[in-house]
Amino acid sequence: MKYLLVLAVIAFAIGLWRSRRRQQAAPAKPGRGRLAPPQDMVECAHCGLHLPRSEAVEAAGSSYCSAQHLAQSRAPRR
Ligand SMILES: [Zn+2]
Repeated sequence: MKYLLVLAVIAFAIGLWRSRRRQQAAPAKPGRGRLAPPQDMVECAHCGLHLPRSEAVEAAGSSYCSAQHLAQSRAPRR
């Protein structure tokens, strides 16, 4: 009878351990605050590269991927 109790405790511990492992191994569900919120994407008016609005250089209603492309699009074409 004593062994039956020990067996029950061990079985309970193994069950608990396995359920915890399953929770850790489960892949993270998309959304629900784990990922950064989506950002607006803009296109560089010079080279056409798409990039987040927060990283773009904006001038005169157009967006550019870098200050260099802003300068190149402003400079007269040769
Ligand atoms: Zn560009």
